Amino acid sequence: MHKIDIELIEMTLDVMKYAIGRISSTEHQIGKPKKYEELKALVGDTVTEKGIGGEYAFNLWKEHLAKANVPVDHPRNLAFVPASPTRAAIMFDLVTSASSIHGAYWMEGAGGIFCENEAMSWIVSLTGLPEGAFGVFTSGGTAANLSAIVTARENWRLDDTYKREKGLIITSIGAHSSIKAMAKVADVDILLVDSEEKLTGAALRETIDNLNFHQRKRLFSVVATGGTTNAGIIDDLEGIAEVCEKENLWFHVDAAYGGGALAADSVRHLFNGIERADSITIDPHKWMFSPYDCGAVIYRNPELAKAAHSQQGSYLDIFKDEGAHGFNPTDYQIQLTRRVRGLPLWFSLATHGTDRYKEAVERGLELAQLAGKMIKENPNVELVREPSLSCVLYRRIGWEPEDYTHWTYENHEKGFALVTPTKWKNGDTFETVSRFCFINPDTTENDIKMILDSMN
Ligand SMILES: *Cc1c(COP(=O)(O)O)cnc(C)c1O
Repeated sequence: MHKIDIELIEMTLDVMKYAIGRISSTEHQIGKPKKYEELKALVGDTVTEKGIGGEYAFNLWKEHLAKANVPVDHPRNLAFVPASPTRAAIMFDLVTSASSIHGAYWMEGAGGIFCENEAMSWIVSLTGLPEGAFGVFTSGGTAANLSAIVTARENWRLDDTYKREKGLIITSIGAHSSIKAMAKVADVDILLVDSEEKLTGAALRETIDNLNFHQRKRLFSVVATGGTTNAGIIDDLEGIAEVCEKENLWFHVDAAYGGGALAADSVRHLFNGIERADSITIDPHKWMFSPYDCGAVIYRNPELAKAAHSQQGSYLDIFKDEGAHGFNPTDYQIQLTRRVRGLPLWFSLATHGTDRYKEAVERGLELAQLAGKMIKENPNVELVREPSLSCVLYRRIGWEPEDYTHWTYENHEKGFALVTPTKWKNGDTFETVSRFCFINPDTTENDIKMILDSMN
């Protein structure tokens, strides 16, 4: 037994106090990065033979290192895809760590995996996939997309005709960079449909008709996006499903960002057709208010994922106990040892109920509409396109790309807001524009007004 160490107890209390303080305070600092050399000069050597002591190290964290981060939950952090994990989820993230659960196998993690699967059942129910569909939590959308692509490819290659072929997938230019990156990892080629707005069934049809014989033979999957990261555009899932079914192609929907909006009645119809997907990616750490990291991959037929990913030999056969046999998350994605990262989401869902999730997502959608209205009423700015999901693209009339960069820098420097520019295809050129992405339901109309005013 360990002797109970007074210093350790104090340390534990300090850490808990810090964690509680962090999630209770309403005004966070937005924080900003510093150069490595600057940080090194501030904190010195931290990993030494004898250790610098927990109290000292923790002070370095609080004084210098914590401030060199840009937390995503600030209500005026509208850059990239921000996040806003619930307090319940964050507190249970601590419990997840403290519980030391190996989340690969039911035998070791039954209780935790049970909770994950409760949360997963809700997510699957939002998709409308048929009975038997199920999923697993991953480290994020990238790992989910990779797991799905590998499942699709392995399933395709079961047919001897394709054994020696390098696979090909079709997606659109709006697809997330991780699709291209993961196609590389899986060693499949990718064909990008250059659609200005959403990828339609007709455009997909045309692209397939224009493939040469060998390309068509290599084509095994289509990746649609359920809410592009840049503009919140949802592809024509119904039309794409139609083509995939006719052509016998694996239909993957990447809804890493947009998936949370499946819970929102006001926009659910935009996702019609998603229930015909073979696999879907959704990131609870984006719009389902989970702490990092938590992604999810869902399969219409999980057995196909198991055939592609299962690493288990006879490992489980040694356990006679019936309770040891159950759902093994490792079988359905690329990772073996894993954190039960769906556990914080489960606790938050159980605490608040799914209606609160609906409301919080609807608020993000509403903020985008409000921002759109304010932009229309403001003579200095104009919408690039109507807000879609919680993304708003707009331009400051008369601004050059440097003006956006400077404005972003100034606002961030002051600790006021983080709103970053993006690029939008305008004919043959890419225009630099400003972009909001709303996730945090605590963002206010006044926050938006202040940000727009700062462009005057
Ligand atoms: C964010 C995002 C990803 C990548 O997800 P990570 O969790 O960052 O790995 C993939 N696809 C889309 C559409 C995204 O928005």
